[in-house]
Amino acid sequence: MPFRAPVPEFKFMLDHVVDFAKVSETDRFAEAERDMIDAILTEAGRMCEDVLAPLQRSGDLEGAVLENGVVRTSPGFAEGFGKIAEGGWISTSADPAYGGMGLPHTVTTVVNEMMSASCLSIQLAPLMSQGQIEALEHHASDEIKAVYLPKLMSGEWLGTMNLTEPQAGSDVGALRTKAEPNGDGSYAITGQKIYISWGDNDFTENVSHLVLARLPDGVPGTKGISLFVVPKFIPDESGAPGVANSLKVVSLEHKMGLHGSPTAVMQYDGATGWLVGEPHDGMRAMFTMMNNARLGVGGQGVGVAEGAFQHALAYALDRKQGRTPVGGGDGTIIDHADVRRMLATMKADIFAARSIALACAVAIDMTTATKDAEWKARAAFLTPIAKAFGTDTGIAVSEMGVQVHGGMGFIEETGAAQYSRDVRVTAIYEGTNGIQAMDLVGRKLMDGGEAAYRLLDEIEANAEAARGTLPELAEPVWEATETLRETTEWLVAQGDMNDRFAGCVPFLKGFARVLGAHYHLRAAMGEGGTGARTKLARFYITRMLPEHAGLLAHAMRGAEDLYAITADDLAL
Ligand SMILES: Cc1cc2nc3c(=O)[nH]c(=O)nc-3n(C[C@H](O)[C@H](O)[C@H](O)COP(=O)(O)OP(=O)(O)OC[C@H]3O[C@@H](n4cnc5c(N)ncnc54)[C@H](O)[C@@H]3O)c2cc1C
Repeated sequence: MPFRAPVPEFKFMLDHVVDFAKVSETDRFAEAERDMIDAILTEAGRMCEDVLAPLQRSGDLEGAVLENGVVRTSPGFAEGFGKIAEGGWISTSADPAYGGMGLPHTVTTVVNEMMSASCLSIQLAPLMSQGQIEALEHHASDEIKAVYLPKLMSGEWLGTMNLTEPQAGSDVGALRTKAEPNGDGSYAITGQKIYISWGDNDFTENVSHLVLARLPDGVPGTKGISLFVVPKFIPDESGAPGVANSLKVVSLEHKMGLHGSPTAVMQYDGATGWLVGEPHDGMRAMFTMMNNARLGVGGQGVGVAEGAFQHALAYALDRKQGRTPVGGGDGTIIDHADVRRMLATMKADIFAARSIALACAVAIDMTTATKDAEWKARAAFLTPIAKAFGTDTGIAVSEMGVQVHGGMGFIEETGAAQYSRDVRVTAIYEGTNGIQAMDLVGRKLMDGGEAAYRLLDEIEANAEAARGTLPELAEPVWEATETLRETTEWLVAQGDMNDRFAGCVPFLKGFARVLGAHYHLRAAMGEGGTGARTKLARFYITRMLPEHAGLLAHAMRGAEDLYAITADDLAL
């Protein structure tokens, strides 16, 4: 079934749901006029439909392989990446001084989501470069910027991000990779990194690895970590790739999905690298990259959900089975109530997750444009929700897509199962969703809940505004927001962080449920309270929003009863 880029949906959401007009009104993004943005989204959508979507299945069937130390990518991926680069989709929001388009991050978020929907494996490649570009823009020296940024933006080189080691996953501070000064301004990097996405390829002339390592005087833990750029080929004086660096791909992982994306074990043996940012300040620089990537990964989840939904809808419109209660009895399975429920659930959750991601992107753009502390706090608060809820939605929706297909969902030819396999990792990488939720109830509530309460105030004000025209939708949203406020207050009052952590995942999910309802309500208001969006909003608010109550009750249980179940009890 051919993928159809949901460009009209994005346009509606930018106008009526996340108030993108605010971004265009700033001086910083004054050139980002709506006509131009619409044209850009249409162009990107076409590339996703025509170029990337056809790569989805071949990337799964003929994944990347390592042959004699060289990574061979899936058929068509070189051409696909070439088209991504040619369209400027790697550097949509990057600094024009180095070849980027300088457009709002919201535009990048939309384009990234469409690329993920059409072929997640290849989309991960530009996503890696985008994160590296942002980290270098903010933290690298002018010399490094001049050499690396134009190449990464044009797609001549690809960026990677190297944090993980066998003993250092979520606990990045446990890393052992070393960096020794060479005495000429460069450093010798030695160590092993695992799970490195797009650790190598056969279509860019160079690969630029961002590597976290510890200097000889680096203290243990995250405070002693520094960031280095370590190229596969060391640039010569003209900046062109020169001699090969002392690094190699040891192996590629055999994975459950995402076969088109080579996931590498990398060995650095005294490889030459250059410091990015200050010594021992690597985590700050890496966080720049990771924040961008967290929203990007949330968008991967939403994108895959969209692809899986389109597949399931097409199947449900075609497959006949049993007498249907509507449509004269000989309709297709979409006319069965349970199938209709599944499709509506998928559609409603995609809308909710997409809204949260776009709202986060708008907050990032407003921070860039205004430097306003409240926008900054809003972006920081929404980032873990966008990541975790976006990817949870990708997993839930693609799983439901398998169910809609019945037995054919379990058969690989339909492609339904691939969405489910490919998207699973998005809840794991870029910080597991558990770690995201801990960030939400920990760092993101360190302001005493100020950023959260400001958001809740806005949701309630919007619900108040809708009371006159859509009371049956506005009231439940207002009430749910009050419950969420009480839960947030309870969490803020807990001195023992473990009491917060014990309920952090249900809290994040409950928060997302309420946010989703808010954006659905805005969509219903945006179409004047009648039409397809209003019906979907009603479905979400009456059937899915009530889940928030169970989730938030769970969030307030604290840790004690959890630890009352001992490891021995679990092993019983
Ligand atoms: C396909 C793929 C691609 C990847 N790409 C990259 C890449 O490009 N670059 C890179 O550097 N890494 C990459 N990773 C690594 C990824 O980021 C890690 O797998 C992830 O951070 C989790 O680390 P871990 O696997 O060691 O799991 P662990 O950290 O061992 O976690 C295991 C479980 O324990 C939980 N847990 C761990 N610590 C805590 C805690 N303090 N509190 C509560 N719960 C906790 C986790 O949430 C998880 O459920 C990739 C991984 C995969 C599978």
